[in-house]
Amino acid sequence: MSKRRIYLDYNATTPLRKEVKAAMIEDLEVFGNASSMHADGREARGRVETARRAVGALLGAPPSGIVFTSGGSESNNTVFQTMRRLGAGSDGRVLPQGRTGIITTAIEHPCVLNSAAYLKTLGYKVHFLPVDEEGKIRMDVFKAALSEKILLVSVMMANNEIGTIQDIAEIARLTKAAGAWMHSDAVQAVGKIPVDVEALGVDYLTMSAHKIYGPKGIGALYIRKGAPLFPLINGGHQEDGLRAGTYNNTGILGLGKAAELALEDLPRYGSEIGALRKKFREGLLARVPHIKINGHHEDVLPNTLNVSFPGAEGEAMLLSLDLAGIEVSTGSACASGSLDPSHVLMAIGVWPELAHGSIRFSFGWGISEEDIDYVLETLPPIVARLRAMSTVQSHA
Ligand SMILES: *Cc1c(COP(=O)(O)O)cnc(C)c1O
Repeated sequence: MSKRRIYLDYNATTPLRKEVKAAMIEDLEVFGNASSMHADGREARGRVETARRAVGALLGAPPSGIVFTSGGSESNNTVFQTMRRLGAGSDGRVLPQGRTGIITTAIEHPCVLNSAAYLKTLGYKVHFLPVDEEGKIRMDVFKAALSEKILLVSVMMANNEIGTIQDIAEIARLTKAAGAWMHSDAVQAVGKIPVDVEALGVDYLTMSAHKIYGPKGIGALYIRKGAPLFPLINGGHQEDGLRAGTYNNTGILGLGKAAELALEDLPRYGSEIGALRKKFREGLLARVPHIKINGHHEDVLPNTLNVSFPGAEGEAMLLSLDLAGIEVSTGSACASGSLDPSHVLMAIGVWPELAHGSIRFSFGWGISEEDIDYVLETLPPIVARLRAMSTVQSHA
């Protein structure tokens, strides 16, 4: 067994920061129901509202525009379910004469893709926009799809597998000019690059705590004043009736603390985590022949590097690296376990065989230059061994 463990899968989830953990442990003593009017309730509520201000500050949003949810998946589903209600008559059926078009992309997270696919089964016209070979939306195709029939445009700010960043401000500007609602899944962007809902001009924006060193099972949805929102979970009057259920105070407090730290650290995230990525990228290009880097050459998350290794199989690389104490992924965590090649790599035109030989390395706080050196020593012989095996097999 290797003593060393180097986690390079920060886009799947991040470790809980020690400051967040300490704040949450202290908060577990605060048991009040944040909706109760007595002192214990008010104490819990005060903490929830402090967290709301911290999340708002991170996103450039007023605290009143922040709704707490169970995470990114719920936030995204809430937006799509809202559109389902908007486009339907009182009998729940789609109104063919109304706005029934949805534009999204082929590289969204499964929780958006499947929400859009569900609306399609109900009769909505859904456009899954193609992207170019670096993962950017094709703006000409987007403009051609936009019309007065479009109800919602939902485009992720940064991709979880290849890290490509979209020009959300421009997409939102065109969307608003067409009179449609604009949503962005910014789960992978928040805490890594500046995310300001005013500068972006979005109506809805999704974030999740566990991708920014906070706890799992808690997240938020930003909603612009005046934009419609129907609750996904009906019940009590929590969150102004937009999301029922007794407050998950400690989760919310953890999210707030993580948001506060993310805002504080944002100025050095790009340079420090970006430097690790650069060192790794250059080391890899120098040591492993014939590799291909997937994603945009410039508009890319500072922490994400997706690499195709022709002639080596992804799952085998992942397992060999794991034995050496290095944890990576072959796509998104949500897609692993499936034998289909990554839908994101397919969308950028990577051949299925090559997509099967691709690894996502995602970095974050806690990784040192020595860790990168260790990976750069460990990985090349693994790739060489697997490539030699596949050559033997293909000649057998
Ligand atoms: C992780 C992730 C989600 C899902 O967030 P959860 O809080 O795990 O539900 C959604 N979108 C993107 C881009 C993600 O990376």
